[in-house]
Amino acid sequence: MAVWDDLVGQDRVVEQLAAAARDADAYVTAAASGEDGDRAPGPSGLSGSAMTHAWLFTGPPGSGLATAARAFAAALQCVSPDRALGGAPGCGFCDGCHTALIGTHADVEVVRTNQLSIGADVTRDLVRRTQLSPSGGRWQVVLLEEIDRLTESAANVLLKAVEEPAPRTVWLLCAPSSDDVLPTIRSRCRHLVLRTPPVDAVADMLIRRDGIESDVAVAAARTTQGHIDRARRLATDARARTRRAAVLALPTRMEDIGDALRAAQQLVDAAGEDAKEAVEDVDARETEEMRAALGASEGGRLPRGTAGVMKDLEHRQKSRATRARRDSLDLALLDLTAFYRDVLVRQLGSQVMIANEDVRDAVERIASSTRPEQTLRRMEAVLECRRAIERNVAPLLAVEAMAVALRAG
Ligand SMILES: [Zn+2]
Repeated sequence: MAVWDDLVGQDRVVEQLAAAARDADAYVTAAASGEDGDRAPGPSGLSGSAMTHAWLFTGPPGSGLATAARAFAAALQCVSPDRALGGAPGCGFCDGCHTALIGTHADVEVVRTNQLSIGADVTRDLVRRTQLSPSGGRWQVVLLEEIDRLTESAANVLLKAVEEPAPRTVWLLCAPSSDDVLPTIRSRCRHLVLRTPPVDAVADMLIRRDGIESDVAVAAARTTQGHIDRARRLATDARARTRRAAVLALPTRMEDIGDALRAAQQLVDAAGEDAKEAVEDVDARETEEMRAALGASEGGRLPRGTAGVMKDLEHRQKSRATRARRDSLDLALLDLTAFYRDVLVRQLGSQVMIANEDVRDAVERIASSTRPEQTLRRMEAVLECRRAIERNVAPLLAVEAMAVALRAG
């Protein structure tokens, strides 16, 4: 299985990355056999090559940005002996590929922030790391999954690093769209655009990779409109299904205002539960590791002077929990948008297949009892709720306001 196999519906991107990995491999091999080794080839050593030092991956949520970047990182570290026989790097099996994919390769640093933002200090640490020679003799790869979350000063630190890359450093930057990236950073990267993968391709992958039954896989892929991670979660995770049920109860419980507000409360609760379970284990493990590192005996007191470090950890965990709650709620609101899109499809008599086949009855009922203009206003209300949450409005308040607006329709 090659490293590209999990990249669904992105043939063009795979072609480009595979070509870059081939050139990168040739470059490393040449440098290793040449007398000058690492001293000679600077950044200009790659000119005219399919390989370069900075890459920007953009694409809609769920298109597999991080998957693409990680596959590329693995291909850059591939040490399969088949390469010498004309095989392409990125075998998926060798030590280089494998450790890069599971996240333990010494020369692949993945920054998967679950904080609300990434600060300059973190970024500076990364830049410092990239000055080191790769321990495996190939590439020092830094993968930043969400550069739209960089603070302004962090972005400036990154800009300097991307402007003057160390000879063996590769920056892989991911963002939802190029608008989320400083133009000065963007212009120094080779830009790859991922598309929303086709529903069939997502369903195929769920069946092939995750062993999910075909009808469940197809339903999950269709419901989530080609969002790979959400499709997989919906097909495999009961919590995701609970949250979805809670959100789809909203449009059908609009009879009286009390009912609508209760539905709002349930939605916020479901998202909160979902988020809590998502971070609980990580938090507990982190706290335990930190206590051990600080020299606390099990269940015992912490040594003097370490309270600040623990406070800092708590602070980061809190920020992560907030982020998880927001993300979960946002996913629920995306489900709601998809529901009203289906209603609109029905109202306009379009032949497009609806996404929410499992709640077809509710879609039909609402489509026939309301007008398209109302549906559009309701979609706008959902969007406004997402914006409010992004602006830090208390989630319950935002969702209640939305429920009232949906009802007024
Ligand atoms: Zn390999």
